[in-house]
Amino acid sequence: MIKLCDTDPSSLESLLGGHPGYRKTQVLEGVYRSHRLPAELTTLPRELRSRLAAEIQPALTLVAESAAGSDDTVKWLFALEDGQRIETVLMRYPDRVTACVSTQAGCAMGCSFCATGQGGFGRNLSAAEILEQIFWAERAAKPRAVTHVVFMGMGEPLANYDRTVAAARRLRSDFGISLRRLTISTVGIIPGIRRLAAEKMPVTLAVSLHAANDELRNELVPMNRRYPIADLVEACSDYARATSRRISFEWALISGVNDRARDAEELAALATPLGAHINLIPLNPTPGYPVIGTAPPEVASFASHLRRLGANATVRDTRGREIAAACGQLSMREAGGGRPARVSARSIPAGG
Ligand code: SAH
Ligand code: SF4
Repeated sequence: MIKLCDTDPSSLESLLGGHPGYRKTQVLEGVYRSHRLPAELTTLPRELRSRLAAEIQPALTLVAESAAGSDDTVKWLFALEDGQRIETVLMRYPDRVTACVSTQAGCAMGCSFCATGQGGFGRNLSAAEILEQIFWAERAAKPRAVTHVVFMGMGEPLANYDRTVAAARRLRSDFGISLRRLTISTVGIIPGIRRLAAEKMPVTLAVSLHAANDELRNELVPMNRRYPIADLVEACSDYARATSRRISFEWALISGVNDRARDAEELAALATPLGAHINLIPLNPTPGYPVIGTAPPEVASFASHLRRLGANATVRDTRGREIAAACGQLSMREAGGGRPARVSARSIPAGG
């Protein structure tokens, strides 16, 4: 038996046996371009279809779904075969449809403010498990299509480097989504950033900075002790040069911690020479970190302070906060760790 997104020409070779060669194309296009399960591939002869349906199985099982903003944002909690849980979010905007996917079950990086970090590490996802999240997102997005993918769900993509890069390559080759529309978000693992630069993939790199001096960043992001800011910024600069892509800095604004005038000045001093884009988002409160996010007026004044200093900054849409879109929070609720999520029994709609 193989996993849905492990379907490829060589795995189909034996499954298709004596069937004509075009059946292979029908299956691959059916799965990756029409987002249909093998049982739904009605162009195949019935006997072949039921054999494929038995041999090719999804790796993810839907556990819970919650929606926000008149269903513009939907978040899923999936169980993997071994019981590990991951989260995927689909965000529908007027001009784009973004899927936010997980690359690991849990995370070992231990950022103090992050629900996933607070829950600890489960395991790496396979490329098939990463990609199947996009399969389900595509089905739910219909009649629209997923236009953008962000590796910003659970886990640290560069700590699962090979599978993350394999999934990125197949995002383009199998799903037909351009790498220019993929963002990989990292806590700042320098060797991973350097390897990624050498792949020469036109992927946007988002670095979760959150603090622009080592003392504060060591506290918020423990990995900073291993990969301090000066080295990280140098790796970012090399990445931007190697790929001609602008770096993004993610900055979760935490009231009284990293939202002061001095923080804006330190951040602008790092970001401006790099030409980096700064994404600001108020911290989403988590059970394990009793500090609140910056209030909207202060978020706006932090952003305008950055702009006055010549930095490029936008305030990110906080859509989905009411369904706890910050990573790790839905699984925490399901495990009984917080307020109950509004979970509907509605299943993910069938492919079109
Ligand atoms: N591990 C990677 C990608 C997943 S985290 C990384 O850290 O970049 C995705 C983003 O959510 C990161 O920018 C992370 O810092 C941010 N984040 C985590 N917890 C948050 C919270 N409680 N509020 C706001 N953003 C949060
Ligand atoms: Fe891991 Fe990213 Fe959360 Fe840090 S913010 S614990 S790196 S998922």
